[in-house]
Amino acid sequence: MPSTKTVDLAAHPLTAWQGPLGLPDFAHIGDSDFSPVFDAALTAHEAEIDAIAGNKDAPTIENTLAALELGGEALDHVSSIFWCRAGAYTNETIQALERDISPKMSRHFSAISMNEKLFARIDDLYQRREHLGLDAETLRVLEKTWKGFVRSGAKLDAEGKKRLARINEELSSLGTAFGQNVLADERDWALFLDEADLAGLPDFLKSSMAEAAEMRGQKGRYAVTLSRSIYEPFTTFSERRDLREIAFKAFTMRGQNGGASDNTEVVRDMLKLRAEKAELLGYASFAALKLDDTMAKTPKAVHDLLDPVWEKALEKAAADQKELERLAAQAGSNEKFAAWDWRFYQEKLRAEKFAFDEAELKPYLQLDRVIDACFDVATKLFGITFEEKKGIVAWHPDARVFVVKNADGSERALFLADYFARPSKRSGAWMSALKSGYKLGNGSKPVIYNIMNFAKPPAGEPALLSVDEAKTLFHEFGHALHGMLTDVTWPSVAGTSVSRDFVELPSQLYEHWLTVPAVLEKHALHVKTGKPMPKALLDKMLATRTFGAGFATVEFTSSALIDMAYHARPDAPAEPLRFEAETLEKLDMPDTIAMRHRTPHFGHVFSGDGYSAGYYSYMWSEVLDADAFAAFEETGDPFNPALAERLRKNIYAAGGSKDPEELYTAFRGKMPSPEAMMVKRGLV
Ligand SMILES: [Zn+2]
Repeated sequence: MPSTKTVDLAAHPLTAWQGPLGLPDFAHIGDSDFSPVFDAALTAHEAEIDAIAGNKDAPTIENTLAALELGGEALDHVSSIFWCRAGAYTNETIQALERDISPKMSRHFSAISMNEKLFARIDDLYQRREHLGLDAETLRVLEKTWKGFVRSGAKLDAEGKKRLARINEELSSLGTAFGQNVLADERDWALFLDEADLAGLPDFLKSSMAEAAEMRGQKGRYAVTLSRSIYEPFTTFSERRDLREIAFKAFTMRGQNGGASDNTEVVRDMLKLRAEKAELLGYASFAALKLDDTMAKTPKAVHDLLDPVWEKALEKAAADQKELERLAAQAGSNEKFAAWDWRFYQEKLRAEKFAFDEAELKPYLQLDRVIDACFDVATKLFGITFEEKKGIVAWHPDARVFVVKNADGSERALFLADYFARPSKRSGAWMSALKSGYKLGNGSKPVIYNIMNFAKPPAGEPALLSVDEAKTLFHEFGHALHGMLTDVTWPSVAGTSVSRDFVELPSQLYEHWLTVPAVLEKHALHVKTGKPMPKALLDKMLATRTFGAGFATVEFTSSALIDMAYHARPDAPAEPLRFEAETLEKLDMPDTIAMRHRTPHFGHVFSGDGYSAGYYSYMWSEVLDADAFAAFEETGDPFNPALAERLRKNIYAAGGSKDPEELYTAFRGKMPSPEAMMVKRGLV
């Protein structure tokens, strides 16, 4: 282990940021710097925590809560650069370090949450909170901090603490096993086909199936695999009903095939441990524990959303099924309509109803103009402007740097964006922060970044986006605005530090402005002719958006309801898969649609804790964004200034400084109903 004495955190480019515009000096950061700097920064943070916990003075907000929040700056700095590199520009050195650093970090932070002297000081402040004369934000941060400690077991006796640690450890290895089992089933299963079996398949699918076969040592053949990107188009396009049935059954049985990779017992054990954990911490159920710090707060609130949606989705799906059965009969099928027929006939119906190719839109969506559109909408809504600074070295030559200014010309934030795919970048699109924005201590200006994976065009040609890609760009930029417009005192409630079922509101809401006619007229200009996108083309594109809503909503909502059914009870079902079947029967689940994720491969819920009792969050956010944009539509002005100001103040600037329900109501005047979301989905 390298000596930590050799690292001067106050001068090292990973921790003391002295590059242009106050960015890290990326040009002078080497891959081998990370490991010794991490060790030094962890040690420094430990010393800070010890000093706070061991302080002889009585606890104050200043010497305890603020000291805790402002501590670990060097660790924050090196971490943020490291995780940026690990996602956007990795290599073997970084990957090896990742495996080393993850467990180190988790040990470090669990030691802090189990630090009894530290908790005693927090608890002392918490007990006196009403008499400390605190402003609302500080009070909320104190309460959240205290709750965080308690939820980590700080109030349990020694026995309880030991049991909780054991449960957490077991849950974490079971979660890893769950994910690896699904992966094993996905890896081990393939259906090899030959040219004669490919009737109906589009070229893009044939080439990915050819590649999948070659990777499995069957060059010249075609493989159906259980990766969603092959399975879904295969069951959508294949004319071969027998093959669709084989693929469907294999896909829905992932994790339930007996043998070493079977997840039945893993799930049973996890549900038992989760129920025990909730009881140990004094909650009525695991769902009650998980929902405690969300916007929904209770299982009942989740059901108040999901139950009416479920009714509508069942009706819509039943009507859709009739139409699909008619198509199947016309096509000469006399088999009973089955789950492996749904996508296939739905695609036929789509082709019949909307003769329309998304590729027609692409020439109108030039990357640089879509970026301009993103900025322009932010200027119109929030008064901020963007100025690109060329020639600044960031983590990779493709990363671009923008200075973000307030209406009065003062600097608000830095925005960095790295748009193109490359082998060293993981797939997907995301937003993150090199530095978050807050006022505590000396304060900090946000440095926010977006990572995309658009195909890089040949030199000199403009990059063109699909509609989905343009939407993704708006989505991630919405998250970025949440980080950049933040206006809070405390770091732990800055920017996107909000609950899981609230964090997608700023991003999903922002997507709506992409298709506002005034935005498209100005920015969606044909790459050759410079003419704006014809309205008829846009209308056709918008009309296809609600197609197939019955199927999609039944697929999603059934998974969300099963997730809640497992976790909202005080105990655990002895046989989870039987419980799944019985619950679906009670719900009148149609046998022609499968859950989007069945229990034995429901990674959101079982491969770790992230979305357990939380799969509903996706729809919850959709309710919020549909209702929030409806507020603008109701005024007839998508940039209504008074509303935009309320949106800035209560949603984009407020972070987690207040309860999300309070924030939303301050913006909208009331809580949302699912109506606007159901209209958006085409369910009513
Ligand atoms: Zn998002």
